[in-house]
Amino acid sequence: MPVPILSAPGASSPFSAAFLDALGALPFGVLVGFAIAIGLVVGSFLNVVVHRLPIMLERAWRADVAESLGTPAPAFEDDGFPARYNLCLPRSACPHCGHVLRAWENIPVLSWLALRGRCSHCHARVSVRYPLVELLSAACAAAALIAFGPSGKALAAFVLCAVLIAASAIDLQRQMLYDELTQPLLWAGLIVNFEGTFTGLEEAVIGAIAGYLALWCVYWVFRLLRGVEGMGHGDFKLLAALGAWLGWSALPQIVVIAALAGAIVGVAATVSGRMRFEEPLPFGPYLAAGALVTLFAGTPLYGVFAWGG
Ligand SMILES: [Zn+2]
Repeated sequence: MPVPILSAPGASSPFSAAFLDALGALPFGVLVGFAIAIGLVVGSFLNVVVHRLPIMLERAWRADVAESLGTPAPAFEDDGFPARYNLCLPRSACPHCGHVLRAWENIPVLSWLALRGRCSHCHARVSVRYPLVELLSAACAAAALIAFGPSGKALAAFVLCAVLIAASAIDLQRQMLYDELTQPLLWAGLIVNFEGTFTGLEEAVIGAIAGYLALWCVYWVFRLLRGVEGMGHGDFKLLAALGAWLGWSALPQIVVIAALAGAIVGVAATVSGRMRFEEPLPFGPYLAAGALVTLFAGTPLYGVFAWGG
């Protein structure tokens, strides 16, 4: 029995397709400009996520602990932030003096440059992380558009990049990869690949399983042989998510790039005295870097290692 066709002939282009057609009619340079602007704004929001999500989650955990112990709910303001604290409220302020940022002080990258990386009120340093996250987000938005054209695939790729940027920045600061970022990322990867956007659904499901198991095995080998915890459980979950997005066949390349980049940075940081040798290196940012290379450049490493070309 034929499947009924929902749209009448001539009206076969649903709104999203019409929107994409309209976008496609714009000069490509204009589109890339739009992508960069959107990337900067999203990057600015990612900075808020990086700063606030850990505080919000710690509050949630404290509340959970108090509830399970039957003790009174904790006073959240103890951590030095207002009681009402989420990704929208309160307005962004200088962490040193509490000066609430005016609109012109909140423009991605430009405000940081205009203020020379300092608060306009107390002149405390504003971390270079802020403009870097914004620039990285803008670069990813432009790269997604250039690699995949004005399409849902480009949008999905940018979502993956944005979550990886936020998770990596938090991991660098706190040595933590939160389930609240890695788990939805895993589900999103399976959903976008339902119709084979980046890889087949089967490749994606096996990728999620293999990504988790690969690092889980490394963790237990290290733990049993040397009695050390080489990495956190967050790393397993992040690699599972990356397997769900890019398929199991991308995993060896992601891990090789991450291990090489991590080793180079680790050695450089130890030699320059910025880090002690035994100190654990957050692995999330390196896995994310391996994933971004794979997302935009495919798997060039396999060509290098392929036997007989
Ligand atoms: Zn200040």
